[in-house]
Amino acid sequence: MSPKFDMATIRDNGVHVIVVGLGIAGLATAIECREKGHSVTAYEKTDILRPVGDCIGIASNGSRIIGRWGNGAVSDKLSPWRFTAKKINISNGQGRRILQQDLTEVCKETNYLIPRAQLLRTMYNHAQQIGVKLYLGRDVTDTWETDTQAGVIVDNERVTADCVICCDGVHSKRRRAVTGENLATRPSGYAAFRALIDGEKVAADPRANWIVETSEAEDRFDVFFVNGAQIALQTSNRGKEVTWFCIHKDSRPLLDSWTSPSNPQEVIDLMKDWPVGDRLLSVIRHTPANKFINYPLFEREPLPTWVSHGGRIILAGDAAHPLSPAAGQGASQGIEDAAVIAVCLQLAGKNQAPLALRVAEKIRYTFRS
Ligand SMILES: Cc1cc2nc3c(=O)[nH]c(=O)nc-3n(C[C@H](O)[C@H](O)[C@H](O)COP(=O)(O)OP(=O)(O)OC[C@H]3O[C@@H](n4cnc5c(N)ncnc54)[C@H](O)[C@@H]3O)c2cc1C
Repeated sequence: MSPKFDMATIRDNGVHVIVVGLGIAGLATAIECREKGHSVTAYEKTDILRPVGDCIGIASNGSRIIGRWGNGAVSDKLSPWRFTAKKINISNGQGRRILQQDLTEVCKETNYLIPRAQLLRTMYNHAQQIGVKLYLGRDVTDTWETDTQAGVIVDNERVTADCVICCDGVHSKRRRAVTGENLATRPSGYAAFRALIDGEKVAADPRANWIVETSEAEDRFDVFFVNGAQIALQTSNRGKEVTWFCIHKDSRPLLDSWTSPSNPQEVIDLMKDWPVGDRLLSVIRHTPANKFINYPLFEREPLPTWVSHGGRIILAGDAAHPLSPAAGQGASQGIEDAAVIAVCLQLAGKNQAPLALRVAEKIRYTFRS
């Protein structure tokens, strides 16, 4: 158990930051900034505490930063979701293993596989405890900057700070204001069926329990490449959860939503004739119909810049650099952005916020056309 976090260790340094969007990158930014002594006001347009989505992976580059929060209090709370797999079994459409990737080195440091809603709740509670001013259900409709200040428009109110950090996700509306260009996302021609399953239901089914039977000792991580599709199944929390996704070709104009259920029959139709189909479907069939989604994957050109012309507004997380779910780095890269932005603001101080954000961008990103 980590020693209790002492709020008195946070010394206000006069830097005032506004965070737009409280996904993982936004909450990480709010926490990192507050723990460095900045005063933080954060706005989120939805109710992020609703249980939406499935599991999210955090690798050691993200967990190392989380480990500092509240002197370890946050990582203590996340400890049931430490991901303990020591290998990835990679198989073909016949179900024959073609490669076993060793994860021993990778897993020397903490990795997590955790329901996103659980992670958000834990981060939100910590942010609240350390004095971040958090506002849910508040849609930021604009950002602005002058030579000396920056801010947002929220519910027709003009809120002022030293800088604004936009963590408003893959479809960021703030991106255009920052880059001056209309860099919209476009469909990639692929989508991901995905869901989270109750591991106890899987364990009770003799045809499906192959995925959880060793997970008390070590999590399981299996990947299959079949007919241009990539399927991954993983256990977490000692087999209490099984998460899976299947990236497949899909060029239909799908609804881009983490809350709109898709038709489970589509997965059955896709896999039923594959030699390995029965094995995969034995597990996937346990997905509750209302939890099953088909999430479209998007592409976008790299941004020419993450920082606004005046230097006081920066993009972070998916708003700056969305990643494929197969990379397993979306959350961790957003957390790294947060750490870099917070420390640059700490070193540069209130009067040099534009310098801080420009340095943060240089550390994280170089645009090559
Ligand atoms: C509802 C939801 C569920 C998801 N579930 C999963 C999952 O199960 N597994 C997975 O791997 N990835 C999931 N993702 C994506 C994943 O969280 C991100 O790819 C990654 O963690 C990077 O996070 P981010 O904070 O940059 O972006 P996001 O997680 O997309 O967060 C952006 C946040 O900004 C808010 N926002 C946008 N515009 C405004 C505005 N104008 N004013 C205020 N707030 C605004 C959004 O509501 C959102 O909460 C989900 C994303 C969302 C939004």
